[in-house]
Amino acid sequence: MKKKIIVAGGGFFGMYIAEYLANCGNEVHLLEKEEKFMSRASYNNQARVHNGYHYPRSILTALRSRVSFPRFVAEFGECVIEDFEKYYMVSSHLGKISANQFVKFCERIGASCEPAPTRIQKLTNPALIDACFTVTEYAFDALKLRDIMMSRLATSSVKCTTGISVENVKKHNAGLLVSVKNIHSGEHNEVYADHVFNCTYSHLNYILSNSCIKLIPLKHEMTEMCLVDVPDALKKIGLTLMCGPFFSVMPFPSAGLHSFSHVRYTPHYDWMDKTNEPYRDSYLKYTEDKPSSAWRYMQKDAMRYLPLLEECIYNRSLWEVKTVLPRSESNDSRPILLLANHGLSGFHCVLGGKIDNIYDAVDVIAALHILD
Ligand SMILES: Cc1cc2nc3c(=O)[nH]c(=O)nc-3n(C[C@H](O)[C@H](O)[C@H](O)COP(=O)(O)OP(=O)(O)OC[C@H]3O[C@@H](n4cnc5c(N)ncnc54)[C@H](O)[C@@H]3O)c2cc1C
Repeated sequence: MKKKIIVAGGGFFGMYIAEYLANCGNEVHLLEKEEKFMSRASYNNQARVHNGYHYPRSILTALRSRVSFPRFVAEFGECVIEDFEKYYMVSSHLGKISANQFVKFCERIGASCEPAPTRIQKLTNPALIDACFTVTEYAFDALKLRDIMMSRLATSSVKCTTGISVENVKKHNAGLLVSVKNIHSGEHNEVYADHVFNCTYSHLNYILSNSCIKLIPLKHEMTEMCLVDVPDALKKIGLTLMCGPFFSVMPFPSAGLHSFSHVRYTPHYDWMDKTNEPYRDSYLKYTEDKPSSAWRYMQKDAMRYLPLLEECIYNRSLWEVKTVLPRSESNDSRPILLLANHGLSGFHCVLGGKIDNIYDAVDVIAALHILD
């Protein structure tokens, strides 16, 4: 039977899930707080299409990435950038993995990993870099991805509205009454839905807190991703130093620059949403509390491993609240969280740890028969 569904949050997850639910024959309304879809974490990220390499400490996440990678590339090929060389480097200095272990890990997950060409090895500081490997990993253009999703939604039956915040949900007859706020006028309204999918990522607990539903334990990090102009020798190259307090520099296609992140300096501070503690609004923190840039620290540290990075020219920073499950802290895993009927029948919460997790999310929605 056709269900009335509200999807809260027009990031990549909300857009994809809204389209999926509409294609299953439901009446879907996608509500996004900002003026534009995909303007938060789905844009403010490193744009890496993960292929497993990043997760030597979580074999499950690595293997899931290996399955999702070809699926994402096949479905969103138009926004996937493949025309750059990608290298993963290993350092025994502070590193949590040796070169040998990295090679074994790649064999285990069936991912290609060859010694990098000499011209690349020569760019690294041999006193700190033990090995450098050529791998297969891509980047995506977030603006193109948004365009693809916008045109797909335009040809679907999904009704899309921006500038509307979902405030809370409560039980009503067999379904839910959803309170929404117009961001410009401040006007509140109530809308009926049989189901609500909460796809608001770092804002997931906002709706829960307002609805007096138990908070989901989540860890938030205030992150800074720098966008830089790299020297010519690195223009068509992405480099990641594994696995410890290191850095990654990768093409960021939607800005024609490279993103520069550092495990030690990209997260400026973190906090937890805990079940029995008052909620702290992550979006308020985001607008009110931006620390000063750590670019100089990132660059100074990374230059020790790859001296050419001294020539990077800082352009600007993308700030975002990164949200992960507390258990991801120890092993860096990126599972999805899908809580069906969380606190209220028909109210479902979805958190994706990375863009290609979307396939795990829709597979679980289908497998759980959530709408039955
Ligand atoms: C620094 C950083 C680097 C990352 N790097 C990568 C990477 O390289 N590769 C990768 O695959 N993943 C990466 N990720 C993870 C990836 O960005 C997320 O998994 C993904 O974007 C989550 O998508 P989403 O749609 O759930 O979230 P979002 O894109 O944040 O969408 C949530 C939407 O909900 C809206 N919203 C919030 N509250 C409300 C409300 N009350 N009512 C209505 N709308 C609301 C927001 O405005 C937003 O548009 C990174 C994340 C960060 C922060």
